[in-house]
Amino acid sequence: TSAETMLITAQSGAEFLSSLEKNKMEGNAKKIVVVSVSPQSRASLAAFYRMPIRQAYAKLITCLKSMGVDYVFDTSFSRDFALREAAAEFISRYRREYGEKDKELPMLASACPGWICLAEKSHGDFILPYISSTKSPQQIMGTIVKEYFAKQLDTTADRIYHVTVMPCYDKKLEASRDDFYNDVLSTRDVDCVLSSGEILDIIKGLGKPFSDYEESAIDSLFTNIRGEELFGVAGGSGGYIEYIFKRAARELFNKEVTEIQYQPSRNNDFKTLTLEVEGKKVLEFALAYGLRNIQNVVRKLKQNKDQNRYHFVEIMACPSGCINGGGQIRPQEGEDPKKLLKRVELLYNETMKKDPEDNEASEKLQRLWFDGVFTLDAKTKLHTQYHAREKMQTNALNIKW
Ligand code: SF4
Repeated sequence: TSAETMLITAQSGAEFLSSLEKNKMEGNAKKIVVVSVSPQSRASLAAFYRMPIRQAYAKLITCLKSMGVDYVFDTSFSRDFALREAAAEFISRYRREYGEKDKELPMLASACPGWICLAEKSHGDFILPYISSTKSPQQIMGTIVKEYFAKQLDTTADRIYHVTVMPCYDKKLEASRDDFYNDVLSTRDVDCVLSSGEILDIIKGLGKPFSDYEESAIDSLFTNIRGEELFGVAGGSGGYIEYIFKRAARELFNKEVTEIQYQPSRNNDFKTLTLEVEGKKVLEFALAYGLRNIQNVVRKLKQNKDQNRYHFVEIMACPSGCINGGGQIRPQEGEDPKKLLKRVELLYNETMKKDPEDNEASEKLQRLWFDGVFTLDAKTKLHTQYHAREKMQTNALNIKW
Protein backbone atom coordinates (compact mmCIF):
# COMPACT_ATOMS: atom_id res chain seq x y z
CA THR A 1 0.00 0.00 0.00
CA SER A 2 2.94 2.37 0.12
CA ALA A 3 2.42 3.27 -3.54
CA GLU A 4 -1.17 4.01 -2.65
CA THR A 5 -0.13 6.28 0.17
CA MET A 6 2.23 8.04 -2.17
CA LEU A 7 -0.60 8.71 -4.56
CA ILE A 8 -2.90 9.94 -1.84
CA THR A 9 -0.39 12.35 -0.44
CA ALA A 10 0.57 13.61 -3.87
CA GLN A 11 -0.39 17.24 -3.49
CA SER A 12 1.82 19.05 -5.92
CA GLY A 13 2.67 19.25 -9.59
CA ALA A 14 5.91 17.34 -9.07
CA GLU A 15 4.14 14.49 -7.32
CA PHE A 16 1.50 14.39 -10.03
CA LEU A 17 4.17 14.13 -12.71
CA SER A 18 6.10 11.41 -10.94
CA SER A 19 2.88 9.46 -10.34
CA LEU A 20 2.15 9.62 -14.07
CA GLU A 21 5.68 8.49 -14.91
CA LYS A 22 5.53 5.60 -12.47
CA ASN A 23 2.11 4.63 -13.74
CA LYS A 24 3.44 4.24 -17.27
CA MET A 25 5.78 1.48 -16.04
CA GLU A 26 3.08 -0.46 -14.23
CA GLY A 27 1.96 -2.65 -17.14
CA ASN A 28 -1.23 -4.44 -16.20
CA ALA A 29 -1.34 -2.81 -12.79
CA LYS A 30 -1.63 0.59 -14.43
CA LYS A 31 -4.20 2.90 -12.91
CA ILE A 32 -6.76 4.77 -14.96
CA VAL A 33 -5.97 8.46 -14.65
CA VAL A 34 -8.89 10.89 -14.51
CA VAL A 35 -8.46 14.66 -14.29
CA SER A 36 -11.48 16.83 -13.40
CA VAL A 37 -11.03 20.49 -14.24
CA SER A 38 -12.95 23.28 -12.49
CA PRO A 39 -14.56 26.00 -14.63
CA GLN A 40 -12.63 28.67 -12.69
CA SER A 41 -9.29 27.04 -13.57
CA ARG A 42 -10.35 26.75 -17.18
CA ALA A 43 -11.10 30.48 -17.23
CA SER A 44 -7.78 31.28 -15.56
CA LEU A 45 -5.86 29.34 -18.22
CA ALA A 46 -7.86 30.86 -21.07
CA ALA A 47 -7.17 34.34 -19.68
CA PHE A 48 -3.46 33.60 -19.38
CA TYR A 49 -3.17 32.29 -22.93
CA ARG A 50 -5.66 34.85 -24.25
CA MET A 51 -7.82 32.22 -25.89
CA PRO A 52 -11.54 31.48 -25.92
CA ILE A 53 -12.51 29.09 -23.12
CA ARG A 54 -13.44 26.20 -25.37
CA GLN A 55 -10.17 26.38 -27.27
CA ALA A 56 -8.06 26.54 -24.11
CA TYR A 57 -9.96 23.62 -22.64
CA ALA A 58 -9.66 21.53 -25.83
CA LYS A 59 -5.89 22.14 -25.91
CA LEU A 60 -5.56 21.37 -22.21
CA ILE A 61 -7.23 18.00 -22.84
CA THR A 62 -4.70 17.15 -25.58
CA CYS A 63 -1.86 18.27 -23.36
CA LEU A 64 -3.02 16.17 -20.39
CA LYS A 65 -3.65 13.13 -22.57
CA SER A 66 -0.17 13.40 -24.06
CA MET A 67 1.10 12.98 -20.49
CA GLY A 68 -0.78 9.75 -19.86
CA VAL A 69 -4.11 11.04 -18.57
CA ASP A 70 -6.98 8.84 -19.75
CA TYR A 71 -10.04 11.01 -19.17
CA VAL A 72 -10.62 14.72 -18.65
CA PHE A 73 -13.88 15.76 -17.01
CA ASP A 74 -15.47 19.02 -15.97
CA THR A 75 -16.52 19.81 -12.39
CA SER A 76 -19.28 22.14 -13.51
CA PHE A 77 -21.01 18.84 -14.23
CA SER A 78 -20.85 17.76 -10.58
CA ARG A 79 -21.71 21.28 -9.49
CA ASP A 80 -25.16 20.75 -10.97
CA PHE A 81 -25.58 17.78 -8.64
CA ALA A 82 -24.42 19.96 -5.75
CA LEU A 83 -26.83 22.77 -6.68
CA ARG A 84 -29.80 20.44 -6.95
CA GLU A 85 -28.99 18.78 -3.63
CA ALA A 86 -28.37 22.08 -1.84
CA ALA A 87 -31.66 23.53 -3.14
CA ALA A 88 -33.60 20.47 -1.97
CA GLU A 89 -31.81 20.58 1.38
CA PHE A 90 -32.70 24.25 1.77
CA ILE A 91 -36.35 23.70 0.96
CA SER A 92 -36.57 20.88 3.45
CA ARG A 93 -34.87 22.97 6.17
CA TYR A 94 -37.17 25.92 5.46
CA ARG A 95 -40.23 23.75 5.87
CA ARG A 96 -38.93 22.33 9.15
CA GLU A 97 -37.93 25.73 10.51
CA TYR A 98 -41.43 27.04 9.99
CA GLY A 99 -42.97 23.75 10.95
CA GLU A 100 -42.01 21.84 14.03
CA LYS A 101 -38.29 22.54 14.36
CA ASP A 102 -36.10 25.56 14.77
CA LYS A 103 -32.36 26.15 14.35
CA GLU A 104 -32.54 24.89 10.79
CA LEU A 105 -31.88 28.32 9.28
CA PRO A 106 -29.97 30.15 8.04
CA MET A 107 -28.46 27.47 5.88
CA LEU A 108 -24.83 28.40 5.29
CA ALA A 109 -23.15 27.26 2.09
CA SER A 110 -20.53 24.52 2.37
CA ALA A 111 -18.62 24.51 -0.93
CA CYS A 112 -15.67 26.59 0.32
CA PRO A 113 -13.15 24.66 2.43
CA GLY A 114 -11.51 27.92 3.54
CA TRP A 115 -14.75 28.85 5.25
CA ILE A 116 -15.39 25.32 6.57
CA CYS A 117 -11.93 25.28 8.13
CA LEU A 118 -12.59 28.62 9.83
CA ALA A 119 -16.01 27.49 11.04
CA GLU A 120 -14.70 24.22 12.48
CA LYS A 121 -11.76 25.83 14.22
CA SER A 122 -13.20 29.10 15.42
CA HIS A 123 -16.89 28.62 15.90
CA GLY A 124 -17.15 24.99 16.89
CA ASP A 125 -20.41 23.28 17.62
CA PHE A 126 -22.41 26.48 17.54
CA ILE A 127 -22.13 27.12 13.83
CA LEU A 128 -21.90 23.61 12.43
CA PRO A 129 -25.63 22.73 12.44
CA TYR A 130 -26.26 25.67 10.13
CA ILE A 131 -23.80 24.53 7.49
CA SER A 132 -25.31 22.76 4.50
CA SER A 133 -24.47 19.07 4.49
CA THR A 134 -24.20 18.99 0.69
CA LYS A 135 -20.70 18.05 -0.48
CA SER A 136 -18.77 20.48 -2.66
CA PRO A 137 -18.62 20.00 -6.44
CA GLN A 138 -15.06 18.67 -6.11
CA GLN A 139 -16.08 15.96 -3.67
CA ILE A 140 -19.24 15.06 -5.59
CA MET A 141 -17.07 14.62 -8.68
CA GLY A 142 -14.98 12.27 -6.55
CA THR A 143 -18.04 10.20 -5.72
CA ILE A 144 -19.16 10.13 -9.34
CA VAL A 145 -15.73 9.08 -10.62
CA LYS A 146 -14.97 6.49 -7.94
CA GLU A 147 -18.43 4.98 -7.58
CA TYR A 148 -20.14 5.28 -10.93
CA PHE A 149 -17.45 5.75 -13.49
CA ALA A 150 -15.48 2.85 -11.99
CA LYS A 151 -18.51 0.61 -12.46
CA GLN A 152 -18.96 1.78 -16.02
CA LEU A 153 -15.36 0.90 -16.74
CA ASP A 154 -15.90 -2.42 -15.03
CA THR A 155 -13.08 -1.73 -12.63
CA THR A 156 -12.68 -0.95 -8.93
CA ALA A 157 -12.39 2.50 -7.41
CA ASP A 158 -8.85 1.96 -6.15
CA ARG A 159 -7.71 1.39 -9.75
CA ILE A 160 -8.58 4.99 -10.60
CA TYR A 161 -6.22 7.85 -9.84
CA HIS A 162 -8.43 10.93 -9.65
CA VAL A 163 -6.91 14.39 -9.87
CA THR A 164 -8.75 17.72 -9.74
CA VAL A 165 -7.63 21.13 -10.97
CA MET A 166 -8.92 23.88 -8.69
CA PRO A 167 -8.58 27.65 -8.15
CA CYS A 168 -7.74 27.00 -4.53
CA TYR A 169 -5.11 25.52 -2.18
CA ASP A 170 -7.69 24.78 0.47
CA LYS A 171 -9.24 22.24 -1.89
CA LYS A 172 -6.19 20.08 -1.14
CA LEU A 173 -7.16 20.11 2.52
CA GLU A 174 -10.74 19.35 1.65
CA ALA A 175 -9.76 16.30 -0.41
CA SER A 176 -7.65 14.99 2.48
CA ARG A 177 -10.46 15.14 5.07
CA ASP A 178 -11.14 11.81 6.74
CA ASP A 179 -14.78 12.21 5.76
CA PHE A 180 -13.79 11.84 2.12
CA TYR A 181 -12.02 8.56 2.52
CA ASN A 182 -14.38 5.89 1.29
CA ASP A 183 -14.02 2.95 3.71
CA VAL A 184 -16.18 0.65 1.65
CA LEU A 185 -14.16 1.16 -1.51
CA SER A 186 -10.85 1.73 0.35
CA THR A 187 -10.15 4.81 -1.67
CA ARG A 188 -10.11 8.56 -1.47
CA ASP A 189 -12.68 10.39 -3.63
CA VAL A 190 -9.97 12.72 -4.88
CA ASP A 191 -6.36 11.51 -4.80
CA CYS A 192 -4.57 14.69 -5.78
CA VAL A 193 -5.48 18.36 -6.15
CA LEU A 194 -3.57 20.74 -8.41
CA SER A 195 -4.07 24.48 -8.44
CA SER A 196 -4.60 26.42 -11.70
CA GLY A 197 -1.08 27.84 -11.22
CA GLU A 198 0.39 24.36 -10.77
CA ILE A 199 -1.22 23.10 -13.96
CA LEU A 200 0.21 26.12 -15.79
CA ASP A 201 3.71 25.25 -14.49
CA ILE A 202 3.23 21.67 -15.68
CA ILE A 203 2.20 22.83 -19.17
CA LYS A 204 5.18 25.18 -19.34
CA GLY A 205 7.49 22.41 -18.12
CA LEU A 206 6.56 20.24 -21.11
CA GLY A 207 8.35 22.78 -23.28
CA LYS A 208 5.90 22.85 -26.16
CA PRO A 209 4.03 26.15 -26.72
CA PHE A 210 0.44 25.70 -25.54
CA SER A 211 -0.96 27.13 -28.77
CA ASP A 212 0.75 24.32 -30.71
CA TYR A 213 -1.40 21.60 -29.12
CA GLU A 214 -4.22 20.26 -31.25
CA GLU A 215 -7.73 20.72 -29.95
CA SER A 216 -9.14 17.45 -28.65
CA ALA A 217 -12.77 16.54 -28.68
CA ILE A 218 -14.25 17.11 -25.24
CA ASP A 219 -15.05 13.89 -23.36
CA SER A 220 -18.80 13.97 -23.51
CA LEU A 221 -19.49 11.85 -20.49
CA PHE A 222 -19.02 14.11 -17.49
CA THR A 223 -19.05 17.58 -18.87
CA ASN A 224 -21.43 20.46 -19.23
CA ILE A 225 -20.12 21.32 -22.63
CA ARG A 226 -22.27 19.61 -25.20
CA GLY A 227 -21.94 20.47 -28.86
CA GLU A 228 -22.21 24.21 -29.02
CA GLU A 229 -24.01 24.45 -25.72
CA LEU A 230 -22.44 25.32 -22.43
CA PHE A 231 -24.32 24.57 -19.26
CA GLY A 232 -23.91 26.04 -15.85
CA VAL A 233 -25.02 28.89 -13.63
CA ALA A 234 -23.22 32.21 -13.55
CA GLY A 235 -21.73 33.56 -10.32
CA GLY A 236 -18.08 34.00 -9.39
CA SER A 237 -18.08 31.07 -7.04
CA GLY A 238 -20.88 28.69 -6.85
CA GLY A 239 -23.98 30.35 -8.18
CA TYR A 240 -25.66 28.67 -5.19
CA ILE A 241 -27.49 31.75 -4.01
CA GLU A 242 -29.25 32.41 -7.31
CA TYR A 243 -30.15 28.84 -8.05
CA ILE A 244 -31.46 28.07 -4.55
CA PHE A 245 -33.40 31.35 -4.54
CA LYS A 246 -35.18 30.51 -7.78
CA ARG A 247 -35.96 26.95 -6.73
CA ALA A 248 -37.21 27.99 -3.29
CA ALA A 249 -39.38 30.77 -4.74
CA ARG A 250 -40.96 28.29 -7.08
CA GLU A 251 -41.38 25.33 -4.77
CA LEU A 252 -42.30 27.13 -1.56
CA PHE A 253 -44.23 30.12 -2.91
CA ASN A 254 -45.17 29.23 -6.45
CA LYS A 255 -43.29 32.25 -7.80
CA GLU A 256 -41.20 32.17 -10.97
CA VAL A 257 -38.15 34.38 -10.61
CA THR A 258 -36.85 35.08 -14.09
CA GLU A 259 -34.39 37.80 -13.27
CA ILE A 260 -32.24 37.95 -10.17
CA GLN A 261 -32.07 41.42 -8.66
CA TYR A 262 -29.85 42.06 -5.68
CA GLN A 263 -30.57 44.96 -3.35
CA PRO A 264 -28.36 47.90 -4.29
CA SER A 265 -25.06 47.55 -2.44
CA ARG A 266 -21.77 49.37 -2.60
CA ASN A 267 -19.99 46.26 -1.45
CA ASN A 268 -19.80 43.64 -4.21
CA ASP A 269 -18.79 41.04 -1.65
CA PHE A 270 -21.90 41.48 0.43
CA LYS A 271 -25.22 41.49 -1.35
CA THR A 272 -28.74 40.48 -0.45
CA LEU A 273 -31.70 39.05 -2.32
CA THR A 274 -35.29 39.20 -1.09
CA LEU A 275 -38.61 37.70 -2.08
CA GLU A 276 -41.77 39.33 -0.85
CA VAL A 277 -45.15 37.71 -0.90
CA GLU A 278 -48.16 39.83 0.04
CA GLY A 279 -45.95 42.51 1.55
CA LYS A 280 -44.06 40.03 3.72
CA LYS A 281 -40.42 39.12 3.25
CA VAL A 282 -40.47 35.38 2.90
CA LEU A 283 -36.98 34.76 1.53
CA GLU A 284 -33.93 36.76 2.57
CA PHE A 285 -30.67 35.52 1.13
CA ALA A 286 -27.18 36.98 1.41
CA LEU A 287 -23.86 36.53 -0.29
CA ALA A 288 -20.83 37.10 1.95
CA TYR A 289 -17.36 36.84 0.43
CA GLY A 290 -14.08 37.53 2.23
CA LEU A 291 -13.21 37.30 5.90
CA ARG A 292 -14.71 40.59 7.05
CA ASN A 293 -18.13 39.90 5.60
CA ILE A 294 -18.06 36.35 6.94
CA GLN A 295 -17.24 37.59 10.42
CA ASN A 296 -20.19 39.97 10.31
CA VAL A 297 -22.56 37.17 9.38
CA VAL A 298 -21.22 34.89 12.12
CA ARG A 299 -21.32 37.64 14.74
CA LYS A 300 -24.95 38.43 14.02
CA LEU A 301 -25.84 34.80 14.19
CA LYS A 302 -24.05 34.39 17.52
CA GLN A 303 -25.69 37.45 19.03
CA ASN A 304 -28.92 35.84 18.03
CA LYS A 305 -29.82 39.20 16.59
CA ASP A 306 -31.96 38.96 13.50
CA GLN A 307 -31.40 35.28 13.72
CA ASN A 308 -33.78 34.59 10.95
CA ARG A 309 -33.01 37.62 8.95
CA TYR A 310 -31.20 35.49 6.42
CA HIS A 311 -32.52 32.17 5.32
CA PHE A 312 -29.50 31.30 3.24
CA VAL A 313 -25.99 32.72 3.05
CA GLU A 314 -23.53 31.88 0.28
CA ILE A 315 -20.22 32.13 2.10
CA MET A 316 -16.85 32.14 0.35
CA ALA A 317 -13.52 32.93 1.95
CA CYS A 318 -11.94 34.79 -0.98
CA PRO A 319 -13.02 38.32 -1.89
CA SER A 320 -14.80 38.03 -5.29
CA GLY A 321 -15.11 34.27 -4.71
CA CYS A 322 -13.34 31.36 -6.40
CA ILE A 323 -12.47 33.10 -9.66
CA ASN A 324 -10.11 35.10 -7.45
CA GLY A 325 -8.89 32.04 -5.49
CA GLY A 326 -5.35 31.83 -4.16
CA GLY A 327 -4.53 29.00 -6.57
CA GLN A 328 -5.39 30.97 -9.71
CA ILE A 329 -2.68 32.05 -12.14
CA ARG A 330 -1.03 35.21 -10.81
CA PRO A 331 -0.90 38.43 -12.87
CA GLN A 332 2.19 38.64 -15.06
CA GLU A 333 4.74 41.35 -14.50
CA GLY A 334 3.21 44.74 -15.18
CA GLU A 335 -0.30 43.26 -15.47
CA ASP A 336 -3.06 44.97 -13.52
CA PRO A 337 -4.60 42.35 -11.16
CA LYS A 338 -8.03 43.96 -11.41
CA LYS A 339 -8.01 43.81 -15.19
CA LEU A 340 -6.92 40.18 -15.09
CA LEU A 341 -9.72 39.33 -12.67
CA LYS A 342 -12.22 41.05 -14.96
CA ARG A 343 -10.99 38.98 -17.92
CA VAL A 344 -11.23 35.75 -15.96
CA GLU A 345 -14.71 36.68 -14.84
CA LEU A 346 -15.87 37.43 -18.37
CA LEU A 347 -14.46 34.17 -19.67
CA TYR A 348 -15.97 32.27 -16.79
CA ASN A 349 -19.42 33.75 -17.23
CA GLU A 350 -19.26 33.00 -20.93
CA THR A 351 -19.45 29.30 -20.14
CA MET A 352 -22.06 29.61 -17.44
CA LYS A 353 -25.37 30.40 -18.93
CA LYS A 354 -27.97 27.80 -18.27
CA ASP A 355 -29.72 26.38 -15.26
CA PRO A 356 -28.93 22.84 -14.17
CA GLU A 357 -32.57 22.10 -14.83
CA ASP A 358 -31.98 22.65 -18.53
CA ASN A 359 -29.27 20.05 -18.41
CA GLU A 360 -31.25 16.92 -19.09
CA ALA A 361 -28.25 14.65 -19.30
CA SER A 362 -27.08 15.38 -15.80
CA GLU A 363 -30.59 15.22 -14.34
CA LYS A 364 -31.05 11.86 -15.98
CA LEU A 365 -27.84 10.55 -14.44
CA GLN A 366 -28.88 11.81 -11.05
CA ARG A 367 -32.14 9.87 -11.36
CA LEU A 368 -30.32 6.80 -12.55
CA TRP A 369 -27.61 6.80 -9.88
CA PHE A 370 -29.25 8.33 -6.86
CA ASP A 371 -32.86 7.62 -7.56
CA GLY A 372 -33.45 11.39 -7.79
CA VAL A 373 -32.61 14.46 -5.76
CA PHE A 374 -32.24 14.37 -1.94
CA THR A 375 -33.24 10.72 -1.83
CA LEU A 376 -31.87 8.37 0.79
CA ASP A 377 -29.12 7.30 -1.57
CA ALA A 378 -28.28 10.89 -2.48
CA LYS A 379 -28.17 11.83 1.19
CA THR A 380 -25.73 9.02 1.89
CA LYS A 381 -23.43 9.70 -1.03
CA LEU A 382 -23.69 13.41 -1.77
CA HIS A 383 -23.73 14.79 1.77
CA THR A 384 -21.16 15.00 4.53
CA GLN A 385 -20.64 16.24 8.08
CA TYR A 386 -18.49 18.73 9.98
CA HIS A 387 -16.56 18.55 13.24
CA ALA A 388 -15.49 21.13 15.79
CA ARG A 389 -11.68 21.13 15.80
CA GLU A 390 -8.85 22.21 18.00
CA LYS A 391 -6.94 25.04 16.42
CA MET A 392 -4.08 23.79 14.23
CA GLN A 393 -5.13 20.19 14.37
CA THR A 394 -3.17 18.00 12.01
CA ASN A 395 -4.89 15.25 10.08
CA ALA A 396 -3.74 11.73 9.27
CA LEU A 397 -1.85 12.93 6.22
CA ASN A 398 0.06 15.42 8.33
CA ILE A 399 -1.70 18.34 6.74
CA LYS A 400 -2.60 21.16 9.09
CA TRP A 401 -6.33 21.69 8.99
FE1 SF4 B 1 -11.09 28.23 -2.30
FE2 SF4 B 1 -11.36 30.86 -2.11
FE3 SF4 B 1 -13.12 29.43 -3.53
FE4 SF4 B 1 -13.08 29.24 -0.91
S1 SF4 B 1 -13.59 31.07 -2.13
S2 SF4 B 1 -13.22 27.53 -2.36
S3 SF4 B 1 -10.90 29.42 -0.44
S4 SF4 B 1 -10.96 29.70 -3.98
